[in-house]
Amino acid sequence: VSVYGAPVIGRHGNWLGIVVVMHDITKLIRLEKVRKDFVANVSHELRTPVTSIKGFTETLLEGAMDDPAVMKMFLGIIQKESDRLHLLIDDLLALSGMESEGFTLQYATVDMKDVIDDALSAVSRNLEQKKMKTITNIPGHITIEGDIVRLVQVMVNLLTNAINYSSENKTITISVTDANERIRIEISDEGIGIEHLELPRLFERFYRVDRARSRDSGGTGLGLAIVKHLIESHNGTVDVESEIGVGTTFQIHLPKKQDY
Ligand code: ADP
Repeated sequence: VSVYGAPVIGRHGNWLGIVVVMHDITKLIRLEKVRKDFVANVSHELRTPVTSIKGFTETLLEGAMDDPAVMKMFLGIIQKESDRLHLLIDDLLALSGMESEGFTLQYATVDMKDVIDDALSAVSRNLEQKKMKTITNIPGHITIEGDIVRLVQVMVNLLTNAINYSSENKTITISVTDANERIRIEISDEGIGIEHLELPRLFERFYRVDRARSRDSGGTGLGLAIVKHLIESHNGTVDVESEIGVGTTFQIHLPKKQDY
């Protein structure tokens, strides 16, 4: 709490009392901490691949280049780390763009089947690589007012996670249901699952349950923060349920109509 005080003096210079103003600055301090943590996290996330690229380049220049096999291996690492940096910068730009004042959604009538189809074709290679199957339950043509590009982005992020945090040959189920004024989308996987204790922090930027696994699968730790932001921009909600070793389900509710 910040406290300001001032004496109240009467017309004849007599002491009348004191005015005390108290401001609850808990929220301000929390916001400041979130901002500082974010900057520290971004710096750390950027520094890790840059350090690796720098180290391997120096080693190559100092002579490792003479051995073609070593050179190929090092260049492979440099390429992977550069891809990581690229992805991270793309996700950071996407998030900051969404948070800027000029950010608006391009609303149109969107058929959910198109959203799911576009997202599935965007992740088809990853699905194939892990020999994973998908089941879709979309009765008829469910349409909502939404921004198709952003909704596809949401589905791609959730599907990418479902693939990354599952072992081979597993199935992902995507269901869309009509729920009166809203629609419900569910994406269920048979993956590694998430501890209940971790669930409340899952949508925070850079929060990962297993940093190494996220890194290995090319994750930036920003996917779910982007999902939450885009769904809330559509006046929707996103929830998660999970069981270790059984799988995870993300549930999205979106209004069918938007108020402009
Ligand atoms: P990342 O790029 O690390 O995947 P996200 O923001 O997309 O970042 O997800 C945050 C964390 O939530 C992940 O690092 C992972 O630990 C966990 N997670 C997300 N989706 C799933 C899922 N389908 N199954 C298990 N864990 C998941």
